[in-house]
Amino acid sequence: MSLVDITTRISACAQAHGRDPSDITLIAVSKVQPAERVEAVLTQGYRIFGENRVQEAQGRWPAFQAQFDGIDLHLIGPLQTNKARQAMEMFGTIHTVDRSKLAKTLARLAQERGDCPGLFIQVNTGEEPQKAGCLPSEADGFIAEAKAMDLPVRGLMCIPPVEEEPSLHFALLAKIAARNGLDGLSMGMSADFETAIAQGATHIRVGSAIFGERAHS
Ligand SMILES: *Cc1c(COP(=O)(O)O)cnc(C)c1O
Repeated sequence: MSLVDITTRISACAQAHGRDPSDITLIAVSKVQPAERVEAVLTQGYRIFGENRVQEAQGRWPAFQAQFDGIDLHLIGPLQTNKARQAMEMFGTIHTVDRSKLAKTLARLAQERGDCPGLFIQVNTGEEPQKAGCLPSEADGFIAEAKAMDLPVRGLMCIPPVEEEPSLHFALLAKIAARNGLDGLSMGMSADFETAIAQGATHIRVGSAIFGERAHS
């Protein structure tokens, strides 16, 4: 599928659910993809990309940034506190804030820098032990804590368990966001972005449907 096919599907789906397509940001997830595939999408004029590792992003994006204006990078993978400074330099949005220690580090660095990327709080809606994200039962407390640190919390993010119906997880995320007065919902990937749009996603993260299968994850 091409980028154009995806954006067409996003618009059709948004309209079918009474939503404005411009309220939905497509993040083209370029992690692990060969440079020529990423460059092809840049050449088509697209500028919003997602990476899951700080180091991988640092290795490839500076060269693209020298060549193309207006690149907007989103961090969608787990962030270690010792990489927080580099992440803040590289990314306009971080989708994976999930614990106090990280929030405190980001708040301290934001003070020092005088600005901060937009932040999403990741919620482990499936309560999977191996997965990042705060537990649903801890989300309200953690969101309040992050807001009290003056962090720019834009919304919530989740990655549903692979074997489960994603709509239950999207609905849970939307409910937690609504009761905390948050508008942003980062949810939906190649296989389920239309379901996510139907349930209010504002940021969808689509990789393989745009770039093709990844060689590894
Ligand atoms: C890899 C990844 C995606 C994109 O997955 P696709 O199935 O290739 O669309 C989205 N979100 C996160 C957090 C990812 O790590």
